[in-house]
Amino acid sequence: AVLAAGAVATLAEVAGDVQRAAGAAERLFELLDAQPTIRPPSSAALLPHPVRGHITLENICFTYPGREIPALCHFDLSIQAGERVAVVGPSGAGKSTLLGLLLRFYDPDQGRVTLDGFDIRTLDIAALRNVMGVVAQEPVLFSGSVADNLRYGCPGASSGKLRAAAADASAIDFIDALPQGFDTPLGPGGVQLSGGQRQRLAIARALLKNPAVLLLDEATSALDAESERLVQQALDRLMRGRTSIVIAHRLATVINADRLLVLKDGQLVASGTHAELITTSPLYRHLAALQFGA
Ligand code: ATP
Repeated sequence: AVLAAGAVATLAEVAGDVQRAAGAAERLFELLDAQPTIRPPSSAALLPHPVRGHITLENICFTYPGREIPALCHFDLSIQAGERVAVVGPSGAGKSTLLGLLLRFYDPDQGRVTLDGFDIRTLDIAALRNVMGVVAQEPVLFSGSVADNLRYGCPGASSGKLRAAAADASAIDFIDALPQGFDTPLGPGGVQLSGGQRQRLAIARALLKNPAVLLLDEATSALDAESERLVQQALDRLMRGRTSIVIAHRLATVINADRLLVLKDGQLVASGTHAELITTSPLYRHLAALQFGA
């Protein structure tokens, strides 16, 4: 999975020579040590503000370097600004690749990806990644305080903003209960957080960044019921009003999505709501039974 990365990295590993402004997506990119095949544009266009978050993938084919079988092929998709889309499919179907192309970890061999009508290859890459919020399965937290971790994508954020984001992410209660609140050190030698707490910190970080487009790889690991409820509440607040593309592992996510995309062997084989697909798509029915017990 392209968005998965080590759970705790040191600040030095994380920062490198990455521009802070580029935010979490850029940092993940560095951590993943992906070999980019992308070529920066000679004259990068700036996105007009505000970014609406209308995304298209137009007849995309993409094969990873050194591989023979395309990871995505003849892939056509249009996602409306503010639409909440959940992506499901068997392992290797191309779900992470879809997110990777949106973040420009790779460029397609054929076709184009657009954001608000702009071919993303013509956009400044840091600016592109700045409008994308990423919440990975295993949130990357680095050694530093809770506040440092939250400010990563938004360095100048005031402590009032930190509190507001933490509250929206259902994280304020556990942060306030830490020995030094927002100044509590995390990581090796610091406080160890539970999986659900880490996810809510990652959600708070994304809320602070306030991206037009949200890319989310839901955690597969089971949380206890209370933690699950808090994470779900935080995710609902995070996705509200933004284009959201979620690799879905939770029943609540597929039920609440405006549209589900079912991927198989690099192709979009079905789309619709959960209720529609349960009746029309045998593959979806199978996946839903397997993953969500639906
Ligand atoms: P999973 O649910 O297991 O994460 P996925 O649906 O996200 O799977 P992808 O990770 O997008 O699937 O993989 C699609 C195809 O591309 C697979 O055949 C996979 O082996 C291949 N692939 C993915 N990442 C790379 C990579 N970095 N280099 C080479 N091949 C890759």
